[in-house]
Amino acid sequence: MTWVASAVDSRYGVENLPYGVYSTPDNAVPRLGVRIGDEVLDLRRLAEAGQCANCPTCSALRAPMLNPFMALGRDVWSTVRGQVQSALTEPDMEQHLRSMLSPISTVTMHPPFMVADYVDFYSSEHHATNLGRLFRPDAEPLLPNWKHLPVGYHGRGGTVVPSGTPIVRPNGQRKTPDGDIVFGPSARLDIEAEVGFVVGVPTALGHPVSADEFRDHVFGLTLVNDWSARDIQAWEYVPLGPFLGKSFATTVSAWVTPLDALDDAEITAPEQDPEVLPYLAEKDRYGYDLRMSVKWNGTEVSRPPFADMYWTPAQQLAHMTVNGAALRTGDLYASGTVSGPAAHQRGSFLELTWGGKEPITLGDGSTRTFLEDGDTVELNATAMGTEGRLIALGEVAGTVHSH
Ligand code: MN
Repeated sequence: MTWVASAVDSRYGVENLPYGVYSTPDNAVPRLGVRIGDEVLDLRRLAEAGQCANCPTCSALRAPMLNPFMALGRDVWSTVRGQVQSALTEPDMEQHLRSMLSPISTVTMHPPFMVADYVDFYSSEHHATNLGRLFRPDAEPLLPNWKHLPVGYHGRGGTVVPSGTPIVRPNGQRKTPDGDIVFGPSARLDIEAEVGFVVGVPTALGHPVSADEFRDHVFGLTLVNDWSARDIQAWEYVPLGPFLGKSFATTVSAWVTPLDALDDAEITAPEQDPEVLPYLAEKDRYGYDLRMSVKWNGTEVSRPPFADMYWTPAQQLAHMTVNGAALRTGDLYASGTVSGPAAHQRGSFLELTWGGKEPITLGDGSTRTFLEDGDTVELNATAMGTEGRLIALGEVAGTVHSH
C-alpha cells in the first residue's frame, strides 16, 4: 500500500509507474519523473539525494530524457523500479520524499525520449482484411506475403510528437474521383490507434535480435496515434509504400509504461497458420491484453483489442533486425492499426465509416466521416497490472488545426 493518497484507488498505483519527462512552474529544467496517482515523483532529485558520485544509473536518472536510462538494460530497469516502489510504499519515506512530488495538474510534460528510428507495422489481421476489402473488393483481402512476415515500413522519427501537440492538417497532392491531380489540404484526415514499443538496449550493425531476446532490448510501450491523410496516401503509395500521407505527425504518450508493469497483461497470442519461418518462431509466444479506447470529441467511437494481434512485438523486433539492421536506443516501432473482429473495435475512421460511406454520430449529434478542423482524438487503454489491479497507459491526444 502506497503512502501517496491519490494513488490508492488509482490506475496509476505502484503497480504502474510509467516514466515521463516534465518541468514545473518553479523549475523549468526538464527532468525524469515517475507518475504515481495524480502526482509526479522527481527521479532526478531522488538520484541526487542518494549522494552517489557518478554511477551510470544515477547519471542516467539525472538526464533530461529517458534514453540514457533505457540504454542500461533490463537489470537496471528492474532494480530502479523496485527501489521506487519501495520508496513509495514504506511509510518512513513519506517525510523524505514528499517535497519531490508535484501535482500532475501543475507540471508541463516534455517528449519522454528522443526518437531514433520509427518503424510502423501492419500486424492486425482484422485491419489488414478490412483494408483489403475496401481497396481491392474483388480480390483476396490479405496479400500473399501477409501471413509470412510482419509487413512494415520506415516512418519519420523526427515528427513523432508527444500527446497534446497540435496536428496541422497536411497539404499534399491527390487524385480526385474525376481523375484530376490537385494540391491542397487533405480532405480525408484519419487516425490509426496503435501500440508502440520503445527500444532501450542497442545492437551493433550485422547482429540480428531473436524473438526470444525481446525483453532484453525493449524497455516499454506507449499508445500511438499514426495520423494518416488517406487521400494523399492513396495516390502516393504505389509502389514504395506510405510517405507524406503519414510523416507529418505521429503522436505518442508523454508516459512510457515499462514492460515490467505488464507481466500480468501477457496473453497467448493467436495461433499462426501457416507456420512461420524459424527466425520468426517464438519459444513463448505472447502478446499483451490491452483494452484500448478511441474518443472523438469526447465520444467513445471504438474499443480496439490489442490481444488479437497476429504478429507479436517480439516477432516484429526479430523481423526488423533479421537483415542485420542495428537497433538504436530510442527506436520506436508501432504495431499498426489495432482492429478487432467487431465493427465497434476498428482502430481507424476509414474502417469505422467503411471508406467514408457510413458516417459516425458523435455525442453532440453531429456526424463525421473524416476529421474536421478543431476535432480532438484521444486514445486510452487499460491492462491488468500485478496484484489484480487495473493500470492505465498514458493518454494520447491531439487536436486538428487548419493549415
Ligand atoms: Mn500505422
